[in-house]
Amino acid sequence: MVLADLGGRISHAIQQMTNATVIDEKVLNDCLNEITRALLSSDVQFQLVRDMQKNIKAIVNLDELAAGHNKRRIIQQAIFNELCKMLDPGKPSFTPKKGKPSIVMFVGLQGSGKTTTCTKYAHYHQKKGWKPALVCSDTFRAGAFDQLKQNATKARIPFYGSYTESDPVKIAVEGVETFKKEYCDLIIVDTSGRHKQEAALFEEMRQVSEATNPDLVIFVMDGSMGQAAFDQAQAFKLSVPVGAVIITKMDGHAKGGGALSAVAATKSPVIFMGTGEHMDEFEVFDVKPFVSRLLG
Ligand code: GDP
Repeated sequence: MVLADLGGRISHAIQQMTNATVIDEKVLNDCLNEITRALLSSDVQFQLVRDMQKNIKAIVNLDELAAGHNKRRIIQQAIFNELCKMLDPGKPSFTPKKGKPSIVMFVGLQGSGKTTTCTKYAHYHQKKGWKPALVCSDTFRAGAFDQLKQNATKARIPFYGSYTESDPVKIAVEGVETFKKEYCDLIIVDTSGRHKQEAALFEEMRQVSEATNPDLVIFVMDGSMGQAAFDQAQAFKLSVPVGAVIITKMDGHAKGGGALSAVAATKSPVIFMGTGEHMDEFEVFDVKPFVSRLLG
């Protein structure tokens, strides 16, 4: 189920509940069960959904809510808060500071939108007066360097890469060193992806991370990812210290479950989302406005 449908279905469940003349156990259960079904069909992990239902029931004790209480509002608020909680790992990610050199490494599977997102992230900061630079350490995919070079040139962002060097660690280190000397304050390292989660990919990520010592590792995930999102995010987190998530393709068939699962698996916040192929189609991700928008 795509994101808009998920929001619509949850809102509908809440609406049904608020329309009921009397809110009793059955009305509440029907509402929560419908939300549960909606989340599960959006590929949110079962355990997360179960915890959410349990938490809401613990907050909304119908017997204890005196007649004068506005049960509807309390339940609505509890649902909203729980959805926000699922997207909030409880601690902010490392935030680079303008003027102070930071290294940000991007990881993710091939096709997730990683290379596009690297440029969007650089462009976003450049517009705010930063001096970003891009390093292409993807030696696995033919054409990766050309793609980054093309994007970087279009955005007028300095880039580093090689057509001949096959060692991604060497390129990453050289690129980082080059841009440190040029006083760039945001050195972005794009890494290789593979179609599948493979041991070799994770080993390569571990080595690049160890050699460049990034201040922040960002996991990039396609927003239309389904059930596999949790495992994928967790696999990256086990190899490198993922500290933030960017969800791409939120303009397309994003399901919502992927974002929720990625946060749970990496215990890191979503910081931006991609909303199109264009460089400017990139937004800061804020939990509350996102959930509000989701519920319409
Ligand atoms: P990589 O293999 O992970 O580096 O992925 P790419 O950056 O090459 O992106 C794969 C495809 O997804 C390209 O066609 C991008 O234009 C597209 N893409 C990336 N981000 C977005 C997004 O937010 N929305 C849409 N619609 N397409 C995107």
